[in-house]
Amino acid sequence: MTELVDVLQRPLHDLRISVTDRCNFRCVYCMPKEVFGPSFAFLPRRELLTFEEIARLAAIFRDLGVHKLRITGGEPLVRRDVDTLIERLHGIEGIDDIAMTTNGALLTPDRAQKLAESGLRRVTVSLDSLDNDVFQSINDVGFPVERVLDAIQAAADAGLTPVKINMVVKRGVNDHDIIPMAAHFRHTGQVLRFIEYMDVGTANGWRMDDVVPAQEIVQRISQEWPIEALTPDRPGDVARRYRYLDGGGEFGVITSVTQPFCGACSRARLSPEGQLYLCLFGQRGYDLRTPLRDGASDDELRAQIVNIWRTRTVRYSEERSEHTTPLPKVEMFRIGG
Ligand code: SAM
Ligand code: SF4
Ligand code: SF4
Repeated sequence: MTELVDVLQRPLHDLRISVTDRCNFRCVYCMPKEVFGPSFAFLPRRELLTFEEIARLAAIFRDLGVHKLRITGGEPLVRRDVDTLIERLHGIEGIDDIAMTTNGALLTPDRAQKLAESGLRRVTVSLDSLDNDVFQSINDVGFPVERVLDAIQAAADAGLTPVKINMVVKRGVNDHDIIPMAAHFRHTGQVLRFIEYMDVGTANGWRMDDVVPAQEIVQRISQEWPIEALTPDRPGDVARRYRYLDGGGEFGVITSVTQPFCGACSRARLSPEGQLYLCLFGQRGYDLRTPLRDGASDDELRAQIVNIWRTRTVRYSEERSEHTTPLPKVEMFRIGG
């Protein structure tokens, strides 16, 4: 392992695989309707990596130290037969954790069961409010809260646990939902994670004033219930964890804006068309699909990835100031958060 880190300069543990750039939601902070309307050109199918290609790359990443995969998007469940991809990935020796982030809209009990049987271990479901009006104005397609709650239950029933719930907090939009969401998920075994609203992509009109700092979120919760900080599960974990002292379970905050964690970031991202991104805010991707389709051997692909990763100097969040960068950045729905 030490040798591997020496070769790579920085460890590489996690790979996020975005399987589609499409989504059935139009969340205002991710894919605003005005930009991603009916005329938006999503990738044609031939541009997407096939499941075989994804599995081949995943095995190469495994050789470089990756043992955790997260399937994301866009909305990963809009990609047909994604469970067959999970099955392939599950078959790769050394991959010991496969998770998925989903908006839950297509996560029926049958689908959840099938995903679990294919080897998916855990699911994170995104839900930003329990208030239907607020949630529907955020997802912008009129999708009701109740059906996301059903999806969370379906995931829990299928054993995709602990189910994590991602809530992006935007000041003046849903910060009044922090306490109701915390109250709802206490004592359920599900782990709510509050995410600071980020300046991902170029379309969401981010301003620092919209961010509710994690510290404020923790303070608001501590005024309702006694809590204490927990030690991270693993170095490089993105969430800071807290537990309710009355046994109500735990919650997390993801402080990517106010207390960035770039130094510990061991995560690579693969876009649906096979671009490797070194950072969520990456200004460029590195094309792996061309060599893959041009017949490169595993050794050649591995060497290319090593060369890309070892020159990695990105630490966008640590360098961000009050303002987002004017330079172009990859859109969130292409690399999946
Ligand atoms: N469609 C799936 C979903 O929403 O769960 C997976 C992809 S989505 C891009 C992954 C995560 O990124 C979601 O939890 C979403 O809430 C979060 N996200 C999207 N835009 C964000 C932003 N501007 N700031 C912080 N988190 C964001
Ligand atoms: Fe779709 Fe997820 Fe982005 Fe919402 S956050 S638009 S559900 S990809
Ligand atoms: Fe990793 Fe980039 Fe996020 Fe820093 S800003 S933690 S380097 S993804």
